[in-house]
Amino acid sequence: MSASFHIGKLCIIGVGLIGGSVARALRESNSVDSIVGAGRNQANLQRAEALGVIDAYTTDIGKAVEGADLVLVAVPLGAMQSVFEQIKPHLSKKTIVTDVGSAKQSVIAAAQQNLDELFPRFVPGHPIAGTEKSGVEASFAELFQHRRVILTPAETTDQSALKTIESLWLACGAQVMKMDAVHHDAVLAATSHLPHMLAYALVDTLARMDDSQEIFDYAAGGFRDFTRIASSDPVMWHDICLANREQLVKVIRAFSDDLHRLCDAMEQGDSAFIKTTFTRAKKARDEFCG
Ligand code: NAP
Repeated sequence: MSASFHIGKLCIIGVGLIGGSVARALRESNSVDSIVGAGRNQANLQRAEALGVIDAYTTDIGKAVEGADLVLVAVPLGAMQSVFEQIKPHLSKKTIVTDVGSAKQSVIAAAQQNLDELFPRFVPGHPIAGTEKSGVEASFAELFQHRRVILTPAETTDQSALKTIESLWLACGAQVMKMDAVHHDAVLAATSHLPHMLAYALVDTLARMDDSQEIFDYAAGGFRDFTRIASSDPVMWHDICLANREQLVKVIRAFSDDLHRLCDAMEQGDSAFIKTTFTRAKKARDEFCG
């Protein structure tokens, strides 16, 4: 953990799983004086305050950022544009703004469009950590421990703002790496977004079958492991798959071609093809997870 990192007033817009976990982690490492939370729903914010995750809250997003040293935007991707629009008139020139969105090009475009001359103080980020749960109740301080956080700064990003956000994530126990936003979106389409699409599609297909109750009754561990992420928030994943659709469609089509090839091999009883595919996949996974 970084002992040197400290913020005075932190504003978190979207005190859910990710925003709440950042707040908890920074509190645990004594890295912050006060945290104000903002969102649409007063009851959620009240709960966050009662849990000690934030010190104060408001549903007025513009007001929330006034006097803040750092603003962390942790709302679904579809809400980023409107949040940037609302906060811009209330930001000071010194305030650093960062986000945690799961796709980066769309967030950067929204920030550039709305933050104008303050855009260099915006540092785009994405913690590669999460669960299938949502909301502040699901947040916990250890979520980012030993997990990666990818920062995708633009050429114009202020270096001191970038260093501050790196330190923030180190204080949360994460490892920080930097990547170009286009590359980030292509990599995450394959490693995170595609598996979520497969899990949603599989569960939905099975749920619509006539004997779906029986299918789920007999579902074993493998089914649970494979489909856990289909319990993730539909709004969040709707936003991710639309925001990163260009990359995601490419990787879904490539996967779909491979699946068809495997299906053809089964139809033709092509044992060699099937064995080779499974063996190659097992080796890759064992090496990757080992
Ligand atoms: P979450 O638990 O549902 O929290 C989202 C928060 O945003 C809620 O507190 C919600 O509060 C607030 N919110 C929603 N719409 C809003 C709006 N229009 N204006 C203001 N506040 C709004 O979601 P999360 O999992 O923390 O995800 C937040 C962000 O992190 C997303 O961009 C996601 O892509 C990214 N992310 C998620 C994961 C993951 O595994 N979950 C991992 C990495 C990154 P109200 O309903 O009260 O407004």
